[in-house]
Amino acid sequence: MTWDILVRGGEVVDPSQSLHKVSDVAIKDGKIAAIGENLAGAAGRVLDASGLLVTPGLIDLHAHVYRRHVPISLDPDPLCPAGGVTTILDAGSAGSYNFDGFRRDVIEQADTQIFGLVNLSCIGLVAAHFGELMDRRYADKQGVIDTIRRNPGVAVGVKIRAGAHIIGGGEQGWANFRDAVAAARESETWLMVHIGESPMPVPEMLAHMEPGDCITHCFKGGGERILDPGGRLFDAVREAADRGVIFDVGHGFGSFQWEVVDAALEQGFEPSTISTDLHAKNLHGPVFDMPTTMSKFLMLGVPLDRVVDMSTRRPAEALGRGDDLGTLRVGTVADVAAFERRSGRFRFTDSYSADRYGDELLVAAYTIRRGQLVPGGGGLRMRYTD
Ligand SMILES: [Zn+2]
Repeated sequence: MTWDILVRGGEVVDPSQSLHKVSDVAIKDGKIAAIGENLAGAAGRVLDASGLLVTPGLIDLHAHVYRRHVPISLDPDPLCPAGGVTTILDAGSAGSYNFDGFRRDVIEQADTQIFGLVNLSCIGLVAAHFGELMDRRYADKQGVIDTIRRNPGVAVGVKIRAGAHIIGGGEQGWANFRDAVAAARESETWLMVHIGESPMPVPEMLAHMEPGDCITHCFKGGGERILDPGGRLFDAVREAADRGVIFDVGHGFGSFQWEVVDAALEQGFEPSTISTDLHAKNLHGPVFDMPTTMSKFLMLGVPLDRVVDMSTRRPAEALGRGDDLGTLRVGTVADVAAFERRSGRFRFTDSYSADRYGDELLVAAYTIRRGQLVPGGGGLRMRYTD
């Protein structure tokens, strides 16, 4: 058998290779073995992808999957076929006290590839609704550094949710923020900052952020935004993006407002990465999954190739894994997603209950993880059960 799986005749979009054309993708021994038109050779399984969009497996740079320990968390593996997602970054569900449990009970059990950010709060998001850093004693800078050192390649950075009701106001807020920055620097990793109703303005936080650091929830509404009160993009935001700070969507149930996205796009500012912030409270709307979140940007006029780029190559680079993830380059791990491009009238809702309607919806048809077709595909046409 020449190939284990042959994905035949899909519209292949792989921004890591500036590729957009109808091609076959051949998989052998868990790796991408060949890509090209009308590949010859017998295959153990042929998947007819004609009419489907075929991309590298998606990378969701913001989700919560510390299931059974952190109340809002989801099981990672069902999210994989439902959304074409093969890699998830858990955005700080665990802190220094419980990251080892997260690794043992979730990361090492899952088929989905999971990386974790370590929350500055030692307890992570176990009691997130109380505000995990309202008590300064929970800020465990050294614990974060030690956790990252103990879990190389798994604990890949630092997370802080910088809302005043989470980290405290005034000097307490700044002290927590500075600890998170220092933990990222001393561990030689990167920092993801959830912007909320933060005690410090976004431009002031950006002054402390370096290339590779990340602002998530970048299109949130409310008082603290990437826009000034007049709706103009802060110069500091544009400058930070230019020097390599990542602006991540992190849609969530409170962090994505049409007016903010409109204003940003009109001023020529696109997100670096598209992510969901999926957790138990937004899975059934308004987020649903990665393809729905991507479809919102298609509706807003962002071209398909860039939407795929923001969901594959760019999050891979944010993770420092641009060489082997978020790509269909021959020799890399065979993480592949295929999507139906459904036409119709679809309702898209932001995090503030405002509806818009689009005419295209991406729906995961099937997902291949490490060269294995993941059971339970999300689409109708290619629904697959083992
Ligand atoms: Zn989150």
